[in-house]
Amino acid sequence: MAVLVNFKICDNAKECGGIAVCPTGALSWNEEKESIEIDNDKCISCGLCEKECPIGAIMVAKNSEEYKKIKKEIDEDPRTTKDLFVDRYGAVAISDFFKIESEEIKEKAEKDCLTLIEVYNPDVAECLLKSIPIKELTKNLPKDTLFYKTESDKIIDEYNMIELPSLLVFKKGKLLGYIDGYYTTDEKEKVISKLSDIIK
Ligand code: SF4
Repeated sequence: MAVLVNFKICDNAKECGGIAVCPTGALSWNEEKESIEIDNDKCISCGLCEKECPIGAIMVAKNSEEYKKIKKEIDEDPRTTKDLFVDRYGAVAISDFFKIESEEIKEKAEKDCLTLIEVYNPDVAECLLKSIPIKELTKNLPKDTLFYKTESDKIIDEYNMIELPSLLVFKKGKLLGYIDGYYTTDEKEKVISKLSDIIK
């Protein structure tokens, strides 16, 4: 019946997985407008696009009731695209300031202060919305705590990580511990408590 895109959180990219899987062309890329285009006359509500979107920005309505409900949810969603561009634990580095090469981990970790290094997989978009702004995560840590990000899956074994993203905690070159996997903003306290356990 209809597909809706929450453009408040959608990165509106040509590479949208929803466009790629749509069998009818109801979702397409408009080169001129540089935007995802919706043609609901073509939508058959198969739901393929919805499953494809890693951040839940595409939603499919099977009837007008559902359409109204989803439309209301989108209208009332307080998030903005700005939320996508906050540096987070579990996110691609937005600012180059945080980004290091994986070969630099040892050198950065040598410092006397606490050093948090997040290893992430750049191909996973989910973390952009679901993880925790780094400022919130580090607010109870010493002021001189350093934070870096590196994109790599090659060093998982080296540090015995189980899954990415993984937040490695170092001091004076020693790995004190790490926190693996995604945590939503709602789980912030859990991560803060894990961090305290690691550094105590
Ligand atoms: S629900 Fe199916 S037909 Fe409709 S936009 Fe999504 S993939 Fe295309």
